[in-house]
Amino acid sequence: MKVRYSYLPQQFADPEPIFEEIRKLLKTGDFTLGKEVARFEASFAELIGTKYAIGVGSGTDALKIALEAAGVKAGDEVITAANTFIATVGAIHELGARPVFVDATPYYTIDAEKIEAAITPKTKAIMPVHFTGEVADMKPIMEIAKKYNLHVIEDACQSISAAIDGKNAGTIGLAAGFSLHPLKNLNVWGDAGVIVTNSDELNKKARLIRNHGMKNRDEIEIMGRNSRLDTLQAIVGNWLLPQTKFITDTRIANAKKYDDRLSQLKDFVTLAPRRANVRQVYHLYMFEVDPKVRNDLVKFLLDNGVDAKVHYPIPLPLQEGLKQFGHKRGDFPLTERQADRVVSLPVDQHLTNDQIQYALDMVEKFFKNI
Ligand SMILES: *Cc1c(COP(=O)(O)O)cnc(C)c1O
Repeated sequence: MKVRYSYLPQQFADPEPIFEEIRKLLKTGDFTLGKEVARFEASFAELIGTKYAIGVGSGTDALKIALEAAGVKAGDEVITAANTFIATVGAIHELGARPVFVDATPYYTIDAEKIEAAITPKTKAIMPVHFTGEVADMKPIMEIAKKYNLHVIEDACQSISAAIDGKNAGTIGLAAGFSLHPLKNLNVWGDAGVIVTNSDELNKKARLIRNHGMKNRDEIEIMGRNSRLDTLQAIVGNWLLPQTKFITDTRIANAKKYDDRLSQLKDFVTLAPRRANVRQVYHLYMFEVDPKVRNDLVKFLLDNGVDAKVHYPIPLPLQEGLKQFGHKRGDFPLTERQADRVVSLPVDQHLTNDQIQYALDMVEKFFKNI
């Protein structure tokens, strides 16, 4: 049996409704921003529960423009998670700001207890990452931000529809960035991203920045750039948004199936604590094993048709491309430990129960034979 990682061919098996909308668009010539983008933004804001949603070119741009609109500039420091995808750090770095890393919790988000020690006079913002579909501990993070007068911009790229203490990921800080990249839970046909915020001021500024700083056709209010949400991608997004509940609920149900059987392999498998106050939406389904067998397990799964992956084998602060930040092994013990131990299994909404049970059979078989 094959348990593939990419489900995109299934997701878009019947593209006719999307093509139909694109045909309609062709007749209007309304190819940049326009009605489809406005419709997408309104539905997305409603889905997340914010006053505004602003469509931009990618998730990275969403984070970057949100930081910029909040006033982060060259020379500032932004505190973020050591355990994240490179794009979080790229967004900070592209503004000329410096990423300051903080180690992870056992549930793969920034450790709020270690944030205060990382604050300096240059700190301007905190960017917690809702990694894997978890939600960072926003309550203590917001308290620290208030105490030191810092902005909080959430990296919610992996966490559409996740929640903590009944609040949706992306609604707690000043603003948040989401990604609609093909690998994310809600995915379009290329790059796209969304900023959400309740702030009138940040909304206004982010809208200006994404469209050359143009107030209208004739007037430039500030320096901006071109990072508009592509209108064709907005059409795909409009088709997909009504499926968010199905996508999220199915991922959560699939994760429960994995949890039920993996939690019986206590001698070999460790699961992150499942926090009762968090709705984890399982962008990634991860578990941890002994680092001595991790790579063998991944190979065994791949050899048996299960597309297991590792997110990620090299802790970000120790990557070659980030050596300018001067980190060494031992700086982020939990992030490093996780990099040696984690395995991800496909968890998407198009998996069948047989595929999930087969993937679990293969994990069990591996541990029976060692
Ligand atoms: C995907 C992702 C991004 C960036 O999204 P793109 O749309 O690929 O630019 C940022 N942060 C995290 C944690 C992500 O997973």
